[in-house]
Amino acid sequence: MTRALSTRTENIAASLTVAIDTLAKQMIADGKDVVSLGAGEPDFPTPTPIQDAACEAIRAGKTRYTAPVGILDVRKEVCSKLKRENGLDYAPEQIIMTSGAKHAVFNALAALVNPGDEVIIPAPYWVTYPELVKWLGGTPVFVQAGVENDFKITAAQLQDAVTEKTKAILLNNPCNPTGSVYTREELESLAKVIVKNDIYCISDEVYEYFVYNDTFYSAAAFDGMAERTIVVNGFSKSYCMTGWRIGYDAAPAPIAKIIGKIQGQATHHPSNVAQYAALAALQMGKTEADKMCATFKRRRDFMVERMTAILGESVKAPAGAFYLFLPIAKLYGKKTPDGNKIGGSIDFCKYLLESEGLAIVPGAAFGDDTCVRFSYAASDESLAKACERFERGVKSLRE
Ligand code: GLU
Repeated sequence: MTRALSTRTENIAASLTVAIDTLAKQMIADGKDVVSLGAGEPDFPTPTPIQDAACEAIRAGKTRYTAPVGILDVRKEVCSKLKRENGLDYAPEQIIMTSGAKHAVFNALAALVNPGDEVIIPAPYWVTYPELVKWLGGTPVFVQAGVENDFKITAAQLQDAVTEKTKAILLNNPCNPTGSVYTREELESLAKVIVKNDIYCISDEVYEYFVYNDTFYSAAAFDGMAERTIVVNGFSKSYCMTGWRIGYDAAPAPIAKIIGKIQGQATHHPSNVAQYAALAALQMGKTEADKMCATFKRRRDFMVERMTAILGESVKAPAGAFYLFLPIAKLYGKKTPDGNKIGGSIDFCKYLLESEGLAIVPGAAFGDDTCVRFSYAASDESLAKACERFERGVKSLRE
């Protein structure tokens, strides 16, 4: 064939988190000794009541099409959750069940972005955001937040980034890859800029249950925000349901209608069975997630302590999510035992995977080449092994 394929699709990058996860899983299947802290995927099983609800749903014949926006009872339960935990008022027609939070982000962008629109993305950012914006013909505009500001952007930085073409900001709180959590005051000042400039906000809150010391606030909870915010959430992380692919958008009614239309044409709806599983998850509340959160906190502290010792400098503990975004630029310029120079985070991660069998994600994938990302949603044993391998890899580098 000589006819060109979609240039818009050719111009987006493949997901590096997904690529590394797929590669590591394949290497393990091939019998290689690989420790994977690549993709963020809780190592616990899906809780039993959720498994049971899904089996019951299958046996009860819940195996046919649902409405494009999802099952009414599930959407009602999402409204109750948003009211109870986040103080947000939503009606069921504002909720659209999706095939995971990634799909919910796509839906939100597809409903908002016209070719040429700018979408502000605080960096470091989750790998998928800029590619989806580009895919839809928009332009990602990055606002860089450094380690010195806990990887969080300020209201002044946001204001500076707004132009005539700005359509929306894509916030991720708690943040993947940095684990940063915005305080109430910080979110309030960002919200003021968002409202003043009359732009939309897509707020990806998929890590909301994993906040270690502070309180989580939804971006939609601030004055003037509900009418311009699309809240994105999912069950993958909070209920260990990565493979079930189930999440949701909560949006102002006119936007929810558009998302329903998009979904009706693109996928019809997320899996009927997964929606019943999500219903059971919502009815379980936060208890299981709170236990997981305590475990993740202990694992975070272990990683921070080990990395501080290995690098010989203090590593700051992330406030939420389950990632450690570790600055490693001081290792750049050194040589591997094979004589290859480490030029940046991609070289470093390639070296660790090939020489030590440790899979982690280069910061370059998240818009910050000075760091690498570890997921500590992995067993204690894997984390201990990962730290040993990281240490050996670092100590084998030469000036
Ligand atoms: N969101 C997770 C991560 O960043 C899972 C992989 C993905 O969908 O990117 O690792």
